[in-house]
Amino acid sequence: ATPTALMAGTGKAAENGILFRDGEAIQTMKDLDVVVLDKTGTITEGNHSVTDVVVGDHPAVSADGGTLEDPGLTEREVVRLAASAERGSEHPIGQAIIEYAEDQEIELTEPEAFDNVAGKGIQAEIDGRSVYVGNTKFFDEVGIPLAYEDELQTLEQEGKTTVLVGVEDEIVGVISTADTIKEESHDAIQALHDRGLETWMITGDNERTARAIAEKVDIDPSRVMAGVLPQDKIDKVSELQEEGYNVAMVGDGINDAPALKQANIGVAIGTGTDIAIQSSDVSLVRGSLDALVDSFTLSERIFSKIK
Ligand code: ADP
Ligand code: MG
Repeated sequence: ATPTALMAGTGKAAENGILFRDGEAIQTMKDLDVVVLDKTGTITEGNHSVTDVVVGDHPAVSADGGTLEDPGLTEREVVRLAASAERGSEHPIGQAIIEYAEDQEIELTEPEAFDNVAGKGIQAEIDGRSVYVGNTKFFDEVGIPLAYEDELQTLEQEGKTTVLVGVEDEIVGVISTADTIKEESHDAIQALHDRGLETWMITGDNERTARAIAEKVDIDPSRVMAGVLPQDKIDKVSELQEEGYNVAMVGDGINDAPALKQANIGVAIGTGTDIAIQSSDVSLVRGSLDALVDSFTLSERIFSKIK
């Protein structure tokens, strides 16, 4: 590759919103075998909104018709506690729950204390009680017995992301959110397959939800890596590399930055976070997977010309 051809190629790419770090990045593109795609914010838009609130695992009326002492919390109370707890969080799920509470004109409380566990959930003190919002892994760790398993299964099979809400030592409800798949994701992934690339999905979200989304964009369910903690994404990329693959990792978040660095090519998508962009070899300004396909095409064109 002559430096001039690479320079021209980089310039041409930039006009199309594809920012290559350097000429070497364009060159490495053509040797890739596997593309690992982050789910939230990469395949999907990343803007969650609440779809379902399930409460009342404990029936208010007992089997023999008598009234139970503990009828459980109302839907509004569960939403109020969860949204109040999420006030200190910047997670898209938290934002969705807060927005939902605001839409319902539910007044939130300022938590007395707050703790965020990356990739798992949050704990907050509200009105003197411990409130938990997070996934099953989080509740396992805290030691609160699981509940609502049928409801979780149903919601997750629909591709919804679920969180459990707990108060003190008990789960009091489930809130699910959904995130729209970007319009171009399916066809762009198809185009990657047509180029002979293998696609994988990586996410902190649970297995059932991840598989439901993968199915919609034609990613093989056996190539879904779900429930991956932010700090473990990098290991997943290394494992694929150890199997001999040249790996591109595509992501948008702070969570993805180490994995972007580890990959043969790190691709930051969208306006993303600064740290993701700094850790990347290619930055896709338009935030669309179409641009990823274009960057492969461009790299190929430059190198077929240069020979
Ligand atoms: P992703 O890889 O999809 O960006 P994250 O690693 O940010 O996901 O989060 C993974 C999972 O951890 C979420 O799907 C959710 O179950 C749980 N979680 C993380 N942060 C929060 C929070 N603030 N509130 C509730 N649940 C959370
Ligand atoms: Mg993400």
